[in-house]
Amino acid sequence: MKFAEMLSLIEKGKADGIISWHPDRLARNSVDGGKIIHFVDRGLIKSLKFPTFWFEPTPQGLFMLSIAFGQSKYFVDSLRENVKRGLRQKIRRGEWPGKAPIGYINDRNTRKIILNKKKYSYIKKVFEMYATGKYTLLQIRNFLREKGVLSNTNKPISISMTQNILTNHLYYGAMIYKGEYHLATHEPIISKKLFDKVQEVMKNRGRVHEIKKHNFSFLGLMKCASCGASITAEKQKGHHYYRCTKKKGLCQEKHFLREENLLEQIKTYLQKVSLSSQDTEKVLFELDKEKEQAKEQTKTTVQNLKIQLKEIETKLEKLLDLHLEDNLSTEEYSVKKQKFLTEKLEIQERINDFEQKGLSWLEPAREFVLSLNQATKLLSSENKEEMKTFLKNIGSNHILQNRQLIFSLKIPYDLVAEQSEATTNLLTFPKWCAHQDLNLGPFA
Ligand SMILES: [Zn+2]
Repeated sequence: MKFAEMLSLIEKGKADGIISWHPDRLARNSVDGGKIIHFVDRGLIKSLKFPTFWFEPTPQGLFMLSIAFGQSKYFVDSLRENVKRGLRQKIRRGEWPGKAPIGYINDRNTRKIILNKKKYSYIKKVFEMYATGKYTLLQIRNFLREKGVLSNTNKPISISMTQNILTNHLYYGAMIYKGEYHLATHEPIISKKLFDKVQEVMKNRGRVHEIKKHNFSFLGLMKCASCGASITAEKQKGHHYYRCTKKKGLCQEKHFLREENLLEQIKTYLQKVSLSSQDTEKVLFELDKEKEQAKEQTKTTVQNLKIQLKEIETKLEKLLDLHLEDNLSTEEYSVKKQKFLTEKLEIQERINDFEQKGLSWLEPAREFVLSLNQATKLLSSENKEEMKTFLKNIGSNHILQNRQLIFSLKIPYDLVAEQSEATTNLLTFPKWCAHQDLNLGPFA
């Protein structure tokens, strides 16, 4: 597709979105890039999709895009990291980082989501309607269409959009981000109670095969120890049993494992890697302190390195002067210059290391600690689906052998488990948090 042709289509209103592999493939130069940004600003381009690049039509998103169009891949990558970090901070402040759902709009100034005065009462209405149990999704959709409610991208409401509305936690003031539950600070449209009622109605209406699929919570978690085939589940006399599918031929496993039994084993693992909310607070507090110290240290170190760098540059200049004044032979000059340049390079690399990686372990450490706290929460919520996801994150090679779930904990979860076996007391500020070179696994 030719670039000018594409822009003209968009200008005529025949398209309002672009899909491209990466911004640097979309725009060949800064002029092209500038045009695209201008179009986004004018609202002619409503969505830009890059599988390799995150973009949101906010001032920050536009800034990133302008960088992406003009700069090297390296620059883009590091910015993207910062944005991810920014996203997490946003989540922590209770702000939804994505597009506003129907009934809300993204406020360009505060970058929060605020009520859409025209639509929000209809959202409330459909929750109330569905909660009565008297309406189907289709009827709800038709109601929204009759009232002229469009999606935020001005499309007619579909059945799946209707379902998305009725299951979106944002409407009562919470948000699910990367599978984790957070409280939000925006104004809710409905109560949590109404939301729960709607979920109940929807669950009871759920199609049969969906119920069946979700019933066996721990499918896809384990393999058979004997033959390596996957584990299946079946219902017998009101109980769920897990067993080998025997799809790989010879297998020695003869046992069936009851779900209640499996759940107990899983809880034992969770117990080993759990951190109470109280201790989590303590550790996070320590981490914040650590962060401030590390920041100061980094600043001083980088300053010193920069002074050294200056000195070497001065030496190089003097060396050149000597050479130009014929006080130094070409050979001597070349040897000495080489030495200084090597030093210069090494110092520069160290500065880069400090500036880029100096604090980069903190965020993973934080998320790691939060994940330990998640184990505690899972123990009380007993949410089996989330337990499965969690087990996959903290361990590898999950197998079922002789009615036993066996897997190896990833670093640094293995260290936590060891520590919790060694002491029954409360965890003190754990040493593993201070290890900068730890591989922090799936949360890194
Ligand atoms: Zn088997």
